[in-house]
Amino acid sequence: MPSFNPPLRVLMGPGPSDVHPRVLAAMARPTIGHLDPVFQTLMEDMKELLRYAFRTKNRLTMPASGPGSVGMETCFVNLVEPGDVVVVCQNGVFGGRMKENVERCGATAVMVTDEWGKGVDLAKIKKAVADNPKTKIIAFVHAETSTGALSDAQAICAFAKEKGLLTIVDAVTSLGGVPLEVDAWGIDAIYSGSQKCLSCTPGLSPVSFSARAEAVIKGRNRKVQSWFMDMSLIMNYWEAQGGARTYHHTAPINSLYGLHESLVMLKEEGLENSWARHRKNHLALRAGLEAMGLELLVAEHERLPQLNAIKVPAGTDEAAVRKRLLADYNLEIGAGLGALAGKVWRVGLMGSSSTANHVTLCLAALENVLPAAGAKIKTGVAGPAARAVLFP
Ligand SMILES: *Cc1c(COP(=O)(O)O)cnc(C)c1O
Repeated sequence: MPSFNPPLRVLMGPGPSDVHPRVLAAMARPTIGHLDPVFQTLMEDMKELLRYAFRTKNRLTMPASGPGSVGMETCFVNLVEPGDVVVVCQNGVFGGRMKENVERCGATAVMVTDEWGKGVDLAKIKKAVADNPKTKIIAFVHAETSTGALSDAQAICAFAKEKGLLTIVDAVTSLGGVPLEVDAWGIDAIYSGSQKCLSCTPGLSPVSFSARAEAVIKGRNRKVQSWFMDMSLIMNYWEAQGGARTYHHTAPINSLYGLHESLVMLKEEGLENSWARHRKNHLALRAGLEAMGLELLVAEHERLPQLNAIKVPAGTDEAAVRKRLLADYNLEIGAGLGALAGKVWRVGLMGSSSTANHVTLCLAALENVLPAAGAKIKTGVAGPAARAVLFP
């Protein structure tokens, strides 16, 4: 059996994004013990870096050991108890997973649904809360990776505060890519993922809980149903209480080296600069796509810069395009999910995959591949249109 040698791909799907060589190099450093005093300095740095990225002073801030889905479940199992009522917003795939989480906690999910490709409608949330006076939590996805729509997290959280409700926010795709203010917006529980705009390898999920959420966790009537995700146990490892950290589970040491490096890189660049870079590269991609005659799914005012859902033109073999891009250019883009399967391509410009080179390659490759797949596009115009945005 030979060693496994993956091809060198260009990752422009909905995640994972390209992992920077600095992150991969960090992960190849020697493994040390998860209670080694030197490792504990990394843990302290990690919490500080995550507070920087989330813009929070929350004490309960650390990476959950597992993919974004584990961060999601960590937020729900700690805050939701049997009999609770949670308003869950669904405007794509991930709101549906929130519903699953709520129901598996023995609580009731009151669904607020919006069309795929649109942001969450605050007026509908207000109505759901008015109709369900026992509501405890509002849960929503900030950046819906399945559609490319951004929701107004600030407005939703302001409403929740006004009503004394908690918020659970999915920031898996938003963290690092678009403005996100955990403290200023009053978010109570938030989770993200390492493999989207942070451009680390998959498998870690930064989470953060407000003091208000922490009080709710402390005041629970019964134990958290998940032993592994119980924050009160996990924090005995992530915090040196009286100088002692206790073993909970063996931390994914080398993965944490990688996340640490990617957060150091984010801090070097500056969070605002990272947001601006994501925006600029999105505008360049969009200029090229529109010049070709392609259309984006989401309306301009709620478009995510880091996830571009492109409508598949009539008469085009959607899957053939992705297949050719991968085979001929080593370029991965995403397919549509659920209601959007076959109807859109999803082009990610996340983290290390948000560069002028990625935009330029993607546009050139699409231009070369689309006509043979049946799409009628204008050629020779996408590159210059993108260039005008990238290098004005
Ligand atoms: C990717 C993603 C998740 C799930 O993350 P995994 O790491 O795949 O478990 C959850 N929510 C959103 C919005 C995502 O984009």
